This record gives sequence, structure tokens and C-alpha cells, in this order.
Amino acid sequence: MSDVVRKVVALSILIIGAGLLLAGRRSYTDTRDAKNEMEATIESARKHATSDDPRLKGTYSFERGGWVYVHLEGDPSTIGFQHGYMLAREIEDAFPAIVALMMHSTKRDWPFFREVAREKLWPKLDLEYQQELQGIAAGLNARTGSALDVYDLVALNSFEEVPDYYVPWLDKQEKKASAPNLKSPGNCSAFVATGSWTKDGQIVIAHNNWTTYMSGERWRVIFDIQPTHGYRILMDGFPGVIASDDDFGMNSDGLMVTETTISQFEGWDPNGKPEFMRARKALQYAGSIDEYTRIMLEGNNGGYANDWLLGDRKTGEIAQFELGLRAYKLWRTKDGVFSGSNWARDPKVLKEDAPQFDPNNPETSPNARRVRWEQLLNENKGKLDVSLAEQMLGDHVDSYEKKTDANERTLCGHVDSNARGISIWSWGPFYPGGAVQGKATDSTMAKEMRLVARMGHPCGDDFHAKPFLASHPEFAWQEPYLRDMKAGPWTFFQTDEIRPAAK
Ligand SMILES: [Zn+2]
Repeated sequence: MSDVVRKVVALSILIIGAGLLLAGRRSYTDTRDAKNEMEATIESARKHATSDDPRLKGTYSFERGGWVYVHLEGDPSTIGFQHGYMLAREIEDAFPAIVALMMHSTKRDWPFFREVAREKLWPKLDLEYQQELQGIAAGLNARTGSALDVYDLVALNSFEEVPDYYVPWLDKQEKKASAPNLKSPGNCSAFVATGSWTKDGQIVIAHNNWTTYMSGERWRVIFDIQPTHGYRILMDGFPGVIASDDDFGMNSDGLMVTETTISQFEGWDPNGKPEFMRARKALQYAGSIDEYTRIMLEGNNGGYANDWLLGDRKTGEIAQFELGLRAYKLWRTKDGVFSGSNWARDPKVLKEDAPQFDPNNPETSPNARRVRWEQLLNENKGKLDVSLAEQMLGDHVDSYEKKTDANERTLCGHVDSNARGISIWSWGPFYPGGAVQGKATDSTMAKEMRLVARMGHPCGDDFHAKPFLASHPEFAWQEPYLRDMKAGPWTFFQTDEIRPAAK
């Protein structure tokens, strides 16, 4: 028996054993409890079954509140190996869903994305991130014998920037007559506040992630990364991806980071460096707002262009960093609030990077949410804290219709609720997308490397795939991947959830 086979057999016995043990021990009133406990036991079985590989020393993972928490530590290839190994099940589940999305929207095949990854993106990556990505492929392979290689993973890591930024640019270059109508996505509602705006003068930062449900329901990892170089990181993220990517995170030097994308952004610089790497690098190495903006600007490729909302708990200062390709702008204050809902506001960025976006149409999702943020934040000036932020992320007031109605214009997005869709993002009627999870933290929590997060719609509503697909056969192509998105509870996470006794 080879080592790998022996390990798989040993692991299977442990998992089956754990399941039987649990099933025989007690009866459950709630199947969900049973499932959670089962998963925890399986995870613990896994942990024990795998502890003999030296590269896995120190890593661990567990499930809580619908999230998968994973602790990674070491040099880049070790962090990658642990990531690929510990999240193998999640990567193998998420990968086909993302491949289907990328191919469906662009009408390009997977070899195309692999080639972009190998020829265009890989050479632009810093060595340490190449090593980390190779490590993910190695860890995944060691765990499951997966055939995915490093270029599949680089392509996966680029799922926000290649389909909606590079491909439209390429279609234009190639003057492709039948090019699909691709538009940069609008993702997320967020704010960061400080000074007299918050309850105790400290920074409060909060974000909900807007995506198609089939990717968002898999955006459920909490990464605790302790790299050999750079700062400790706590962030949410996607299986197999090295950046938070939606983005919400903090580092041990006091930086707090989130963003919302710039709607109708156009442009790509083929000489730039991938956004997913710059975003990860900035969170790992920036100790100040200035350093963060410097790293993001270095090799800016225009991909996944965002309005970054930043906070530095050491100084109490916050910033909005509107990062276009041809233009950018940084606003900063020690007493104020910045919100985001997928609109740009600098005239130069609007003119040069998002010329189609109309900031004055109150009916569109970004502008309606902008108005709602202004109302909510002004009403709560001086009272903002994490628990208020949780409520705001689940807010259902449509500022355009002036009524409560969970839809594409509310901070907690439910685009599937009606036939309007969001045309400026190419989201058609009843598009199965919206707010898929939320996170918040403040300076005190960030000092302890702690955040609170909720899986699913931040309002607590569930999405049910079966009735949705029955009513909307136009989304039948998502059927193999789209599943129920049940909301979990607001759940706390911090670094070092489990500390080995001897270290
Ligand atoms: Zn909601």
C-alpha cells in the first residue's frame, strides 16, 4: 500500500468511526445540530489523521456558524500546502462552480483561462506568492490526489479580474464581433467610520459581500495566516484563493481593510500585476494607509478596480482610496465616515475609468444604496458600533421607492426578488445574487485580531435553490452548483483560536 493510499484509508476509517460513534451516542432534536457536531468530529478526525506530515505542523481548521476557519503558518510554500490540504474539500467543491461561471459569462473555454494564468499572470507574481500557489496545488494533491495544477489555481485566483476586466479588454483588442456584453461587477456594501461618528471614537468597519449566490455561498472561509514574513492576517476568503477577494481583513500592525468595486469600470494594463496578489501583499505588508496605497499602486493592472476603505487603529485615521487605472484619489480623515456601494466619486476617475457610470440616476443599485448609507450613517452619528453595523448590513430600505423591500437597491441585496435585475452589471431579471455574507470589527477587536461574521444574507433570510430554479428555468445552467444559502448566526472569530499546548 502506498503512503497516500494508507493515509486515505486511515482517514476514512476515522471519519466513518467518528460518524458511527456520534450516531450511536444520542438522538438529536435538531438535524442541524447533529450535522454541525458531525462535521466538527470529522474535522477533528482529519486533524489527527494528518498530523504526521511535517508541513502540516501547527495548522488546524474547524467549522462554526457556517464558516470554515483555517489557521495557516510558516513560509510561503508551507502556508500554501496547509491551505490546499486543509481546504481540499472546499476547493474541489468551489472550483467547478467558478469554472462554470467564468466560462458561461465570457464564452471562453477553460484552456483559455489556463493559458492566461500561465502566460500573462504567473510571470507577474512575486516569488513568494508563486510558492504559495504551488503549495496549494501540492497540498490539494496530497489530500485528494486532485489533478488540478498551479495554473488552474492561478486562474481560480483571477476569477474577479480576468473574466470581467481582462476579457472585455481583450475582446476589444481582437475586435471580436460576437463578444459577450461583459461588465465589471458591482460587489458589496461597506463603511468605515471614526472619531465623533462612532460610539467611543474608535474605528468601526463593516462590509457585506455581493456576488452570485453560487459563488457567495462558498465564500465562507475565515483565514488566520501567520506568515514567516510580514504581518499576521485575519480575513474572510474563498477556498483556494490567496487574497480575501471580497475583501475584508486586518493585520497585526493595525490596518483594517475593505472595499466595494467601481461599477462600469473599463480598462486593463497587460503590464500590470494581478490584483489578487497586490491585495494580498498589501494586507500582509502594509502598516499604514500610505504603505497600503503604495503597494496597490505598484503594478496596478486595473483588474477588480475598487474603492478601498481603510482604517489604521494605531492613529484612528480612516481613508477612501479610489483606485482607478488612469486615475485614482485618496481621501483621509481622523473624524468622519466613508461608505461604499459600487460608485466612484472622483470626477477624474469617473471620466477616465468609468465613463458609462451615471452617478445621478437614483434608481440604480449603487446610487440608491449610497443614499441609504448617507441616511443611516447620519441618523446614527456618534452611535456607530459593531452591533449597529450588523443591523445596517442587513438593512432592507429601498431609498428610491422609499419603502422597506429587500431588493437590488437595499444594502442587504436580494436581486432575485424582482424582474428589474441590475443592467449596469449585466445581471438580468431575477438574477440569483446579492448580499451573501457580512463582517464587522472595530479598533478594540482588531487589536485582539477579532471580527464578527455572518454567513448568508446578513438580514438572516435564507435562499432556497429548488423553488428558485423551478420558477426561473433560465438559470438552469446553475443547477449543478446552486444550492440553498442558509443564514448562520453572527459569529466571532479571532486568530489563535486553538493554541497547541507545547509550542
Ligand atoms: Zn436581506
